[in-house]
Amino acid sequence: MPFSTLSRDQIQELLVEQSAKYVELQEAQLKLDLTRGKPSPEQLDLSNELLSLPGGDFKDAAGTDTRNYGGLTGLTGLREIFAEIMQVPVDQVICGDNASLALMHDTLVFSLLQGTVDSPKPWAKEDAIKFICPVPGYDRHFALCEEYGIEMLPVALNDDGPDMEAVREFVNDPAVKGMWLVPTYGNPSGSVISEAIAAELAAMETAAPDFRIMWDNAYAVHHLTEQQTKTADILGLCAASGHPNRPMIYASTSKITFAGSGIPFMGGSADNIAWFLKHLAKRTIGPDKVNQLRHLRYLQDVDGVHALMDKHRAILAPKFSKVVEILESRLGGHDVATWTDPKGGYFVSLDTSDGLASRVVKLAKDAGIAMTPAGAAFPYGDDPRDRNIRIAPSFPGMAELEQAIDGLATCVLVAAAEQALA
Ligand code: PLP
Repeated sequence: MPFSTLSRDQIQELLVEQSAKYVELQEAQLKLDLTRGKPSPEQLDLSNELLSLPGGDFKDAAGTDTRNYGGLTGLTGLREIFAEIMQVPVDQVICGDNASLALMHDTLVFSLLQGTVDSPKPWAKEDAIKFICPVPGYDRHFALCEEYGIEMLPVALNDDGPDMEAVREFVNDPAVKGMWLVPTYGNPSGSVISEAIAAELAAMETAAPDFRIMWDNAYAVHHLTEQQTKTADILGLCAASGHPNRPMIYASTSKITFAGSGIPFMGGSADNIAWFLKHLAKRTIGPDKVNQLRHLRYLQDVDGVHALMDKHRAILAPKFSKVVEILESRLGGHDVATWTDPKGGYFVSLDTSDGLASRVVKLAKDAGIAMTPAGAAFPYGDDPRDRNIRIAPSFPGMAELEQAIDGLATCVLVAAAEQALA
């Protein structure tokens, strides 16, 4: 029954019942963790073949000795695979070392210190720099902005993309130099940016001539159902609208092969890639091509990537289904929370009634269930409605996951009953 239809006595009764469950939970002295948006050991095992690659043959098809210096763009064979996934011509894709976050970091730092190809001056020389941040979003994007003094402007993220009215308003300010977007299966919302919204983002006029869309397609091929959602072609859309340099596109094998030893990719206009390489050349003589070669030999082609992702899906999809099933059975109908049922990506996003998230996370912590801090998916860690909780189902085993989500549901009910009686 929705809480709003319950009498005070009924809510009191529910609180007593759920508090008893909560005490049982505490007595069980659990040590569960729902914070880690990382692959489980079982998923990592899928790619163990990488450990014996590239073997004794360390030259790629072009005869490059991968053991040596050089080759700043990364190996062509591997770039070809991701060029198709990222919908970017292969000449405009580069691959680097182990973290797309590092490529995003460098993009920001190069822009701040040197300016982009369209910047009148380095961003750091401007009085203020601002980025639009759809929320809830990826905490590390926001941490990068905070680290470098880029002011963050939150806008609501809907199922099909950011609130465009708010975005259009913000881009009238020349200090607004960019925005973060995770187009396919947002972290943590699972939302997918529609073709129509992508087209609007590409076409909109911005006061800043060097406005950048940081298009972080970290979950491009991370489907949880048979439906292989296709990402909008942001590069093509921007080029067609006369803004070829607007998008900076990122992808990564962190959640395809090994999260700590994967390969990141970056794509964009020819000018943007040349700009990035020019600055990158001062930072490194070349990437870890041995790791790139073993990835190329292991994945082979786009079909190889999809086949591997099917194996991940077989492990992940039952976990996501279990989360949604438990939330539905424990919280459904009470009107105290809503949650996503994502078609891909790595997270379930739980929204409690306003003002409950911090209390729920605290209750969970005191019962041995570690949750990502409330507000983590918002700039400066500030969720103005204190309602969003990010659930990462990938890492725990199924039994642990069930216990943790059931415990979390108990915490939501206790917090909601406390609030209703306060
Ligand atoms: N982008 C998003 C949206 C993510 O969720 C993550 C990891 O959680 C990353 C990037 C990190 O990717 P990488 O390991 O390539 O740095």
